[in-house]
Amino acid sequence: MTGIGEAVTAVRGAYTIARAAKDVTDKVKLDTAVSEVLDALGNAQSALLALQQHHFELLDENRQLKERLAKEARFDRYYIEKTPMGGLVLRLKPEEVTSQQPDHRACPNCREHGRLSMLAEEDLFYRCLVKDCGFLAEHTESPNLGIDPMY
Ligand SMILES: [Zn+2]
Repeated sequence: MTGIGEAVTAVRGAYTIARAAKDVTDKVKLDTAVSEVLDALGNAQSALLALQQHHFELLDENRQLKERLAKEARFDRYYIEKTPMGGLVLRLKPEEVTSQQPDHRACPNCREHGRLSMLAEEDLFYRCLVKDCGFLAEHTESPNLGIDPMY
């Protein structure tokens, strides 16, 4: 894993150098050992800072994924319903219907964009309430007005 191994190696190296230098009486050798310990600790600090940055990025990614999952979970309450005329809509599952959440249908087109939008039930169509969507699903056969389609 990036960062952790480097930090552990650097700290271990600093410890080894410091331990070996504890009984050194030669000033030059001691200065060299201190310099090596400081280099190793600097490497460890750099690795830990990079690791911390990566950790924050993962936390942010995790938060975004949780938000996305929570948005997707809203659709678990619906099932795909085929209208008598062959259109497909999302319908609230019967076990989800309450007095505060009456039976209704939602737009499959908006669902593809991660949006939960209700459908208005009009005389012949379910119509999406989102203005820029334009989804329509015929749920009732058009009334026969006695007009011959050939004319
Ligand atoms: Zn829609």
